[in-house]
Amino acid sequence: ELQFSSAVEVLMSYYPHVKKAIGASEKIFEYVDRKPQVPPDGSLAPQTLNGHLQFKNVTFAYPNRPDTVVLKDFSLELKPGQMTALVGPSGGGKSTCVSLLERFYQPQEGEILLDGKPLHSYQNQYLHKKIAVVSQEPVLFARSVKENIKYGREEATDEEVFRAAKMANAHKFINDLPNGYDTDAGEKGGQVSGGQKQRIAIARALIAQPQILVLDDATSSLDTESEHLVHQALQKSSSRSSILLIAHRLSAVEKANHIIFLQGGEVLEEGTHTELLGKGGAYAQLVLKQNTAFQRNAQEGAEKEGG
Ligand code: ATP
Repeated sequence: ELQFSSAVEVLMSYYPHVKKAIGASEKIFEYVDRKPQVPPDGSLAPQTLNGHLQFKNVTFAYPNRPDTVVLKDFSLELKPGQMTALVGPSGGGKSTCVSLLERFYQPQEGEILLDGKPLHSYQNQYLHKKIAVVSQEPVLFARSVKENIKYGREEATDEEVFRAAKMANAHKFINDLPNGYDTDAGEKGGQVSGGQKQRIAIARALIAQPQILVLDDATSSLDTESEHLVHQALQKSSSRSSILLIAHRLSAVEKANHIIFLQGGEVLEEGTHTELLGKGGAYAQLVLKQNTAFQRNAQEGAEKEGG
């Protein structure tokens, strides 16, 4: 009896350590048991895809910051061949939507549907082919401009390369480069500006004939005129691709079929450009602000030239 109680005493003296050890092992099991963050992909790879994309009541926090909800009950619809634009202040969650679409993460609640079926039921490789994402700072390889565009579809003919470049409003400047389409597009060449890089990247995306084209601030380095030309060309091609457009410069989104103003992970307002202007809300205010800044810059430019 005495022995037993002393044994208990000894154990009790170790109690904090034992407790700690149990705690640690629980953590380990928690870690081992943790489900992968993104479920494995499925087997769907249908011959035809319409490019109908829906986010339905998506709530999402990044795994490394589980307490910070980045998208709250967020819904979005991109109809086949149409253009939906995401706008709003920095940190609103626009790029996060793209990461979810690329399946880098999985929403905690809600679902993302492609042609009515969950995104994760498709083969990743298939999604990769059907959804093209062009980011703000695209990476070009130290190869010729032509090879950089063909990277989107290796078997593309020269004619197809030129057509894609024309749609991206890139054909003319490429022809004006020292070696035309054979010019090295790599960093070392330094012959390609930021805005030209963006257009080459758009051509690369277009040549793959994706069903969904995502432009994440992908024309931000272009002047307003060139940006307008790219969008005009894209509009002509939009019978083929559905376009998800993210832009800080609102002049780029005016023609979108639907505009969503995202703030703090929630939809503040949505509609067409005209509808949102009429509403006089956050979107209208931002348009006004950007127009004023634009006019001020133009005026300053004119004064400098004059003086
Ligand atoms: P911007 O207009 O500046 O590009 P955005 O609207 O695209 O902003 P997101 O980049 O989606 O906004 O960011 C939304 C929120 O998620 C921000 O608070 C940001 O700090 C956070 N966030 C973004 N990426 C990560 C990440 N990898 N891990 C943790 N938090 C992130």
